[in-house]
Amino acid sequence: MPPRPFRLGRSRTGLGLFATRPIKKNIRIAEYKGKLLPLKEAEAAEARGNRYLYEVTKKWTIDGKDRGNIARYFNHSCNPNTESYNIGKRVFVRTIKPIEPGDELVYDYGSDYLNNVIGKSRCQCTRCRKRRAKRAKELREVRVRREARLAAKKKKARAAKRKTKKKA
Ligand SMILES: [Zn+2]
Repeated sequence: MPPRPFRLGRSRTGLGLFATRPIKKNIRIAEYKGKLLPLKEAEAAEARGNRYLYEVTKKWTIDGKDRGNIARYFNHSCNPNTESYNIGKRVFVRTIKPIEPGDELVYDYGSDYLNNVIGKSRCQCTRCRKRRAKRAKELREVRVRREARLAAKKKKARAAKRKTKKKA
């Protein structure tokens, strides 16, 4: 195997994998390695809080918690640049876009994971952060406009009061 085209580094949510050179689209870059667990054992591991379980088929799950499994460091994104796929009971990760050095390598963990584990409103991927930032900006603008309207109204009211005082 050629040396990995990525390195482990600090990401927004802890650790993540970052490209160290350009990578073309459709290149296999890693294998998600670990012990294969039958359903019962996988459920028990999940109950113990193991967050590195990859369900390969309905019957088999890979326990990827071992630190030797570099693929456990791929973070989730709703706008991914890689994807996981299986060949039999093995799981690999390949690029789905051209990658630039420094890009974080991320794949979509799937809607079950997003809804049940991360929580849609807490997703820290770039797309979700941008979406929330845009929404916050819109809300801020609405508030600023409302406050400006209110201030103008008050000013008008004060001016009207002064006028009536002068007349009296
Ligand atoms: Zn997201």
